[in-house]
Amino acid sequence: MLTVFALTCKVSAQDTPEYDKIATAAGNVELYFIGHGSLMFRVNGYTIHIDPVKSAGDYRFRPKADLILITHDHGDHLDIPLINELKKAETVVLTNEKTTEQLGWASPMSVGSRQEINNIVIEAVHAYNIVNMRSPGNPYHPKGVGVGYVITIGGVRIYVAGDTENIPEMEELKDIDVAFLPMNLPNTMTPAMVADAAKKIMPAILYPYHYGNTDTGEIVELLKNSGIEVRIRNLK
Ligand code: ZN
Ligand code: ZN
Repeated sequence: MLTVFALTCKVSAQDTPEYDKIATAAGNVELYFIGHGSLMFRVNGYTIHIDPVKSAGDYRFRPKADLILITHDHGDHLDIPLINELKKAETVVLTNEKTTEQLGWASPMSVGSRQEINNIVIEAVHAYNIVNMRSPGNPYHPKGVGVGYVITIGGVRIYVAGDTENIPEMEELKDIDVAFLPMNLPNTMTPAMVADAAKKIMPAILYPYHYGNTDTGEIVELLKNSGIEVRIRNLK
């Protein structure tokens, strides 16, 4: 695993959200915490929006996207009018297959597929529920529909899990430096489930995200001697 040097930048400008910098062989990656499941990564001016949703944060001053990644079509992950606002003529949009049907012009990513764009490698991985069900036999996130992404930039591997539980396929994720794992009920994971997932993945840095009103102190406590640095950011 790469050593990840990171620096938290608290910026005073009201229109710039909080972000962290991660050093990679391709330059610093800036991780912006828009809110809930919405993230923005920037490297050398190249902008990646992940599950951009207007209700999650303020997009008025955010740069347009070079690349947009969508994990699945739930309302807190897919906001088609905002995608249209963030999109430029050359923007690449990658989504799970079901969402591609709704967007029409996006490129589908299914589990196991891989794309390389601007020297950034994007791999789609499983994201689904095992125990949390909308009704018996009807999971919030059925296996094979939504995806998570492993994004490799300058040798640093960033896992954005999407809406998932601590699924066995996480054991197969190798050399993850930074992980974003969802931590709210009823749709995703409890802190105990996130701790289990984190121990399968063993990232250097864990950002719980998509956490709603979950007490983030619990995951800090559960992983305090794990060797994983837990960073709490404003990602309700
Ligand atoms: Zn969902
Ligand atoms: Zn969600």
